[in-house]
Amino acid sequence: MCGILGFFGRGDVSHDVINGLTALQHRGQDAAGAVTFDSNRFKLKKGLGLVREVFGQLDVTDYEGFCGLGHVRYATQGALDAAEAQPFTLNYPFGIAMVHNGNVTNFNDLKSRLFSDQHRLLETSSDLELILYTLTSELEKENLSRTNPEAIFRAVQATQLAIEGAYCTITILANLGLLVFADPWGIRPLVMGRKFSDHGLVYGFASESSCFDFLGYETVRDLKAGEAVFIDSDMQLHSSICERRKESFCVFEYIYFAREDSIMNGRLVAGERVQMGRQLAKTFQESALEPDIIIDVPASAYFFASGLAEKLNVPYRRGLAKNNHVGRSFISPNQSDRENMVRQKLNPIRDIIKDKKIAVVDDSIVRGTTSKHLVRLLREKGAREVYVVSASPPIKFPCIYGIDMSIRREIIAANYNVHDIGRYIEADAIIYQKLDDLKEMYSDCSSCYACFDGCYPTGITLEAIEAIEADRLQSKR
Ligand code: AMP
Repeated sequence: MCGILGFFGRGDVSHDVINGLTALQHRGQDAAGAVTFDSNRFKLKKGLGLVREVFGQLDVTDYEGFCGLGHVRYATQGALDAAEAQPFTLNYPFGIAMVHNGNVTNFNDLKSRLFSDQHRLLETSSDLELILYTLTSELEKENLSRTNPEAIFRAVQATQLAIEGAYCTITILANLGLLVFADPWGIRPLVMGRKFSDHGLVYGFASESSCFDFLGYETVRDLKAGEAVFIDSDMQLHSSICERRKESFCVFEYIYFAREDSIMNGRLVAGERVQMGRQLAKTFQESALEPDIIIDVPASAYFFASGLAEKLNVPYRRGLAKNNHVGRSFISPNQSDRENMVRQKLNPIRDIIKDKKIAVVDDSIVRGTTSKHLVRLLREKGAREVYVVSASPPIKFPCIYGIDMSIRREIIAANYNVHDIGRYIEADAIIYQKLDDLKEMYSDCSSCYACFDGCYPTGITLEAIEAIEADRLQSKR
């Protein structure tokens, strides 16, 4: 998963691009990059690491431009090297710069097609290169001009038909304008904003609205499934639903990925999480468990825990201290590294948990590493009983749309039933959100639940899943 943004106005937007990226940092910490355009050339800066590491020493005046894109990368597939960092730019057959968030599922097919039809070779293993070449060839077939948005939308539609998977993209078309489009199912988030600056109207697009708030942008609306928006150089906004299928927004954005202060599809992420916590109370009551306190796995599970505590009328406590300076345990390539990192990262606060029956809430259980170690740590510090609560239903299928949920072999609920998972993590009880309860929350819209029920909205073959898993394994090595 990644975070993207783009701004377009009459004055310099470089500060908004770089500062905005810091508010998307939670969506990717492997690489960061930005490009601006000033009517003459692209000014590109990207590299491995956090936004502050890549841009910390930068003299922003060298990057002034009235149009700009930014990207933070979380490598799910593809190599972890600087060449894979976004944005990507091309100067031929015309100036074009692009960022994307998502995952292309027909990567190998498209790659061979580009080679056989156009003799193009890829320089990276990034999906973006494929989207960029596909869009560029489609635009080349059209009579490109800023007064002809229909031609641009035809090129987008042809691109949407060629590319399978989930993606949102933002593109600078040099001296023509800014183009934004989403996949036909609207799986990944993208929100539009605007502000009035000293130089007039500025449009912004970003994976999450959280970056608009502190930059002073008003959030206008989310991009619709299959929609393309083109802002021409007169700042006229054109939009069209180019290729649309059944809307299938990713619910895991609400559960785990998005920042709590973001608003997606008109829903505040924090509010969604509190509600998911409240819903868990029902399942808890059916189980007749009576915890003394509810604790969360910091920092993503606070809102679930507070909703559950409120509904059960049981005190919420912060029972685990978190060391924020340890790397990500989830992506460490081997199991013993992951286990050590959990121990380094989370430490139970003895006086809070000693002699208590504890319900510990996390957003999800993937391999079971975190929960198993937490149960042990809590017992070592004197917990009387430990009930593990997952705000998401059992994750049983890999996400092929850009969220790293590991591979089927490693996903615990893909291989064991809930009872056996409880035994494996050595909990006194294990409670999962019921998929039907989660679906009930989103009954007014259609969403993607593929990681829970295996219904991939775009359709996928077993061979394609295997190819994605093989790439994922390869890139972790
Ligand atoms: P595991 O320890 O493998 O069961 O993974 C569960 C933990 O990883 C939970 O604490 C989640 O907060 C976190 N998590 C879940 N999904 C992801 C993801 N896609 N990337 C990084 N961390 C995740």
